[in-house]
Amino acid sequence: MIIDDHTYDLIVIGTGAGGGTLAGALAECGKSVLVLERGGAMDLSDQNVADVELVRNSRYHPGEQWFGTDGDPFPPQMIYALGGNSKIWGGVLERLREQDFAPQRHLDGSSPGWELSYADLAPHYDRAERLYHVHGRRSVDPTEPPRTGDYLHPPRSIEPVLESLRADLARQGVTAYDLPISWSASPLDPSGDAERFGVDVAELSAQVTLRTGARVIRLHVNPSGREVKGVQAEIDGQNWLFTGHVVVLAAGAVNSAALLLRSCNDQHPEGLANGSGQVGRNLMKPQLSSILQLAAHPDSGRYGPGLGINDYYWGDKNVSVPLGQIRNGGGVLQDPLFAESPPLLSLVTRLLPNSLLEQLAVRTVSWWASSGVRPDPANRVSLRGEGLQITYTPNNREAHDRLVYRWLSTIKALEADPATTVVRAFPLHPRGESPLAVLGFACGTVRMGSDPTRSVVDLQGRSHQLVNLYVADASVFPTCPAVGPALTVIALALRLAEHLKRVL
Ligand SMILES: Cc1cc2nc3c(=O)[nH]c(=O)nc-3n(C[C@H](O)[C@H](O)[C@H](O)COP(=O)(O)OP(=O)(O)OC[C@H]3O[C@@H](n4cnc5c(N)ncnc54)[C@H](O)[C@@H]3O)c2cc1C
Repeated sequence: MIIDDHTYDLIVIGTGAGGGTLAGALAECGKSVLVLERGGAMDLSDQNVADVELVRNSRYHPGEQWFGTDGDPFPPQMIYALGGNSKIWGGVLERLREQDFAPQRHLDGSSPGWELSYADLAPHYDRAERLYHVHGRRSVDPTEPPRTGDYLHPPRSIEPVLESLRADLARQGVTAYDLPISWSASPLDPSGDAERFGVDVAELSAQVTLRTGARVIRLHVNPSGREVKGVQAEIDGQNWLFTGHVVVLAAGAVNSAALLLRSCNDQHPEGLANGSGQVGRNLMKPQLSSILQLAAHPDSGRYGPGLGINDYYWGDKNVSVPLGQIRNGGGVLQDPLFAESPPLLSLVTRLLPNSLLEQLAVRTVSWWASSGVRPDPANRVSLRGEGLQITYTPNNREAHDRLVYRWLSTIKALEADPATTVVRAFPLHPRGESPLAVLGFACGTVRMGSDPTRSVVDLQGRSHQLVNLYVADASVFPTCPAVGPALTVIALALRLAEHLKRVL
């Protein structure tokens, strides 16, 4: 083993929305920071692909095989690169709603509240939106939580087809708002992500050392078992050991849990920081269904998400529990989620030649329905030899079905309206649910809370058991709301950075 003889003030593991943001925020704190990232820089040509090749299911799988609930292996969709999953995200950065932090009643049970409130995170949301150049407009979405001012950047213009759809939906009584989107405006790589707004900032500092291709495989503790003493990583086939006064784990909801479980030792036989037995448990990911509609005229098939609809977020006629969010999916040739998802279409996409696939794509308007899920200790990440076992049964199904059927009836009404111009009536609205392999939205496996018997990290993100170990990624979420998790991951990372600046 090669031992790095420098002891860093801080070691950050992972550079996604959590770790990348944190590293950037600590760049100028005057402390030495080591950032260990398993991947490297993602080629520009591999980012933001907008081609039929995308829907052929071949991209964005790192070549790992994990095992699913049925015991069969599957290739997860996961990005190991500077920026993590933010390299292929839709860039929709939304705040959780005030009520998302409170306990919720669902049709099939209930979910606990966060022990943080919206007010606790609001100033960090403000900073997160500024840092990630979020373009949006306040006061259109009826569920929007209170904010101190408007977004710094107005919404970017959206595809003409979406603008027409917004007007068509308004006639159906539906409010479509501009999704708040991170946009860097760089001519080379315009979409905003954690590499651009986090890692690039960190790299400007002489105090930050970035090691790419550094896959952390184990955390070692001191003899008392109360502190992380060393971080073991594999770099170019060799084992390295790094030491730091404070270690922040930000490898994403699946890999952070896996790393803690793999780091078990005599003092922590069930895995590091796992006195509560909750590490790896409560895995959640929003239920995501795509729904397709026939476009009246061909469009580019290449554009991002633009419109959001939260009219059913807290319920609908005859149902007063949260159903979830609808958003347009963007052109299907540019949507990495769509590439994974609908079983019917993935079969079609495999059989059709490129030219026909392209024609189908440019004639399609796609929608995503997203519903939150409840934490369930039986849904979990566990170790299976050198691999990972993902045991997962989605819950809150009825609410999601209601959302999907509500949206189907809305789009059928849209098609029946003679004033509608951009979509056309068609007997079929193919739809499909995201399979298990879509784990980029995962959260919950290292849950946050004040009770060490029921949570893994405290309300700051610090392990209840190891005094110098923090977690700064989506794994700390106690619940999984319907809006995307990333802005909350970023806000929590900025909040943790403030704390670390005080204690380091
Ligand atoms: C196609 C797609 C679209 C999405 N769109 C949106 C959206 O529009 N809005 C939204 O809110 N969310 C979106 N998400 C989800 C969002 O990307 C994630 O919630 C967010 O990236 C989570 O941040 P994280 O820091 O927890 O993990 P990640 O971003 O996954 O980062 C984890 C990092 O850790 C590194 N790592 C992992 N293991 C190790 C190890 N052992 N050693 C060293 N490094 C390691 C990884 O390489 C990666 O850099 C999308 C996800 C996908 C896949």
